[in-house]
Amino acid sequence: MTGQSGRTGRGASQASAGDLLELVRNGRAVTRGALQQATGLSRATVGHRLDRLFRAGWLREGAGGPVDSPQGGRPSITLEFDDAHAVVLAADLETRHARAAVLSLTGEILAEHSGTLPIADGPDTVLGELGGWFAELLEKAGHRADEVCGIGLAVPGPVDSESGRVVQPPIMPGWDGYDIRGRLARAFTERTGAPAVPVLVDNDANLMAYGEQRTAHADCSAFVLVKVSTGIGAGVVVDGSIYRGIDGGAGDIGHIRVPAGAEALCRCGSYGCLAAVASGGAVARKLAEAGVPAASGSDVRDLLASGHPEAAAFARDAGRQVGDVLATVVTLLNPGVLMIAGDLSGTAFLTGVRELLYQRALPRSTAHLEVVTSRLGERAGLVGAGALVVEYLYAPERVEERLLALGV
Ligand SMILES: [Zn+2]
Repeated sequence: MTGQSGRTGRGASQASAGDLLELVRNGRAVTRGALQQATGLSRATVGHRLDRLFRAGWLREGAGGPVDSPQGGRPSITLEFDDAHAVVLAADLETRHARAAVLSLTGEILAEHSGTLPIADGPDTVLGELGGWFAELLEKAGHRADEVCGIGLAVPGPVDSESGRVVQPPIMPGWDGYDIRGRLARAFTERTGAPAVPVLVDNDANLMAYGEQRTAHADCSAFVLVKVSTGIGAGVVVDGSIYRGIDGGAGDIGHIRVPAGAEALCRCGSYGCLAAVASGGAVARKLAEAGVPAASGSDVRDLLASGHPEAAAFARDAGRQVGDVLATVVTLLNPGVLMIAGDLSGTAFLTGVRELLYQRALPRSTAHLEVVTSRLGERAGLVGAGALVVEYLYAPERVEERLLALGV
């Protein structure tokens, strides 16, 4: 995210309607006077640019009434982002289930559905089905399909964010290199009759991290979320933006080789991966070997919720394995918050993580570290996917083009 100093350094006379909208949206300047002060624009120019945003339906006058202006003098009317002019669609794919929602532009879930949708059915079937889910959800939420401004999709695999395609995903057979954006846009259009909208695709742990950081840890400039479900993945949010690395591979910690995994075959085809010994799937296998019926991470989650002692013991051991790897993660990134999410996140797993993390990392790296569990739970991916779409569409560099398309 560009800081305020970066923006003013670009030349005050260049502040666009998009820049003004961003200042209002992030609360840094919410009156005409404050916008003049922040941008150096004249009163008339600020007025002209705000008029365009009002005509687009993107801004409204605040419900709270006038506030004292920063320069003194007459109280000013506050401005706020008008989130009533559009909605966003989002979906979060797990290996066997999916979750989809209609969200407001400010991240409120307006209608939601979850159901069985095996990722192994392949992209054509899964994305076609999602188109139908979206059509039903819009009806349930009482919104028209032409109000949708974009679609965000979370997938359990590494994503090249330039193309929106997954790259060699270990648990998504048939999806490698597939045109997800094109297919989902087409499915939406076919099922609703509405014009195609932008589709953004990202890794599920990335989007969960983005959703959680913005919701409960917005002041944390270095945030790490680790998702432990069927697989293990991490999302990193630095200065408010997802850190993806050079080609979307950042955070893919599930396939780091660990000593305890030497004999364990991973779903990626290798032996010794962290996910092969410490994921929800791995714990389910160990439980099944011990005679406890469990086939998946969600079965383990249910056993943990019922206080099953063997499930807790295996989860704690899995937590130790993950904690050992996280000692390196924490030393490298020095995060303020480390959030544990997914099927295994609970007391037993967290205890295991803490044991090894604090034992292996330097005290310096963990002195200001909070280790926490998820706030948004199973909705984190949806909230993150919705926010990704909104931040993309209302970014200053895209606003001008979109205003011109609206004819304002
Ligand atoms: Zn692996």
